[in-house]
Amino acid sequence: MTLKTVHSVAELRAIVANWRAEGLRIALVPTMGALHFGHISLTEYARQTADRVIVSIFVNPTQFGPDEDFGAYPRTLPDDQKILDGAGVELCFAPSVTEMYPDGFATKVSVDGSMTDVLCGAARPGHFDGVAQVVTKLLLQALPDCAVFGQKDYQQLMVIRRFAADLNIPVNIIGAPILREDDGLAMSSRNRYLTADERKAAPTLNRVLTEITNAAAQGADIDPLLDAGRKEIITAGFGPVDYLEVRDENTLELVAKQVIKPSRIFVAARLGKARLIDNRAIEPGKIAG
Ligand code: AMP
Repeated sequence: MTLKTVHSVAELRAIVANWRAEGLRIALVPTMGALHFGHISLTEYARQTADRVIVSIFVNPTQFGPDEDFGAYPRTLPDDQKILDGAGVELCFAPSVTEMYPDGFATKVSVDGSMTDVLCGAARPGHFDGVAQVVTKLLLQALPDCAVFGQKDYQQLMVIRRFAADLNIPVNIIGAPILREDDGLAMSSRNRYLTADERKAAPTLNRVLTEITNAAAQGADIDPLLDAGRKEIITAGFGPVDYLEVRDENTLELVAKQVIKPSRIFVAARLGKARLIDNRAIEPGKIAG
């Protein structure tokens, strides 16, 4: 089956309705395009449980702050379509901004509390409201059986699980592992912003996360590790470190002193024009790969 691309909700719904009539299972993979193997790994994950895979491509203006990279974000639909076709994806949904937010649009979706106050929620005010708004719409537009999101954006995945449960959206939310380059850098559309020198420095983030993960998993005090990690990141050429923190993997509460329950280390730091984020699981007693 070759890839079909549609731009309207009506066309999307018509195709989904036909698949439903055939009794097929449907998965949605929401993206902002500029696709890489990380995105494709999500479609492969989706394929394990679904007969038909839809990838949405939409650079959502409402999740970008006024000084962020909405205008500069790479838009590469023809290349993305080739990649999706090669990956065996059946449908690409690429709506325009006016299709998603027509005149008169007035509804917000907002997740309150500790889950959105911290990490990227603190560094990017309003970001998760925009994510919740657009993902709610995409889930309701396609009404798939499941939707797959990357743990690369771990906090985003938790926020999506929260509002999908709170709003009784009948879609199974699946989290998929982070895909990395050979040198450990988490794949990201924003890696395209990096110069050659910055690209060489970028794997520092994962190296620092892995070092701290392994030491913390063995019971080391985390504060000195985090201090040293921040210095290592700055020395490698990064600008400000928005955060380097260890948090409970379920509640996102800050972990103090030692890791005694499943946690995650999170980092966000600026490198040239890119703001890179990454995270790793810390399981007490276990060494990370
Ligand atoms: P984006 O296009 O950056 O908004 O990402 C779309 C989806 O792909 C989100 O669920 C991301 O978490 C996921 N994703 C992005 N990069 C990776 C990666 N390196 N590994 C796994 N999933 C990823």
